[in-house]
Amino acid sequence: MGVDLFSLDGKHALVTGGARGVGLVCARAMLEHGASVTITARKPDLGEAAREELSQIGPCDLVVTDLSSPDGVDDLGATMRERLDVLDIVVNNAGVTWGAALETYPPAAWEKVLRLDVAAPFQVVQATLPLLEAAAERNAPARVVNVGSIDGHAVGSFDNYAYSAAKAAIHHLTRVLAFRLGRRRVTVNCIAPGPIRTDMTARLIEGSEAELLDANPLGRLCEPDDITGALVYLTSRAGSYVTGAVVPIDGGFAASPWWAGPPVEQE
Ligand code: NDP
Repeated sequence: MGVDLFSLDGKHALVTGGARGVGLVCARAMLEHGASVTITARKPDLGEAAREELSQIGPCDLVVTDLSSPDGVDDLGATMRERLDVLDIVVNNAGVTWGAALETYPPAAWEKVLRLDVAAPFQVVQATLPLLEAAAERNAPARVVNVGSIDGHAVGSFDNYAYSAAKAAIHHLTRVLAFRLGRRRVTVNCIAPGPIRTDMTARLIEGSEAELLDANPLGRLCEPDDITGALVYLTSRAGSYVTGAVVPIDGGFAASPWWAGPPVEQE
């Protein structure tokens, strides 16, 4: 039997916001590939229910914390350092959006969204870096995977101005951190999904599903496996020489033509 390039056996992963939505899907996939996992959630009961469900697959731990404040991130870092000596993988998944018309888009949206979607992932990396470095080896670097979005590199029609800017910021922060942390044996990558059905998007998708499907080159929305395939690649041995990448997982949405007219024949 050769080496399993996609195994996460013996690895420990932190997934922020791992109790529901995309984060739950990520936590489940990492457990299925052999990792043990710590998830975060704000509500103890919802977090505990997810922890119990995930524990059917493999070892799963819960930290209850709100990452919208620096104190919440500090608490997470302190708890992780108390419980673990090494941490192999951080998945910065927790995120929030805010939709409102351009004319009335409120200042509070910028504060809330940039705080959780950009500043918090950076601070989670700061807080867990000693554990990541303790896990890292030259040919087996520790991994950070940020969850960006198609909104970070392509223009859509939803009124989510702060979210689009925040996701563009996390895409670029991924490259900056990849450059800074490479020599410290930590890779930093980002997955940038197109619309996937979760609490965040249920209403938006419901209101525009036909148009979304029509606009997508592959003619479907993002499914959990689409995201977890890329996540497992980036966090397993298979992805150990990849850093600073922003991987679009959007069925080709971001490859929209700049001009959608009829094909022009060349001489
Ligand atoms: P959901 O709204 O379903 O879940 C949001 C997640 O973020 C929850 O796990 C939630 O945890 C966590 N969270 C929210 N606020 C806080 C906070 N203050 N402190 C800690 N955790 C918090 O969204 P999705 O699952 O859809 O989104 C997850 C990630 O995927 C986000 O980064 C999002 O931008 C990204 N994404 C989603 C897409 C989609 O179409 N759904 C497409 C592209 C990217 P809690 O259980 O505590 O509420």
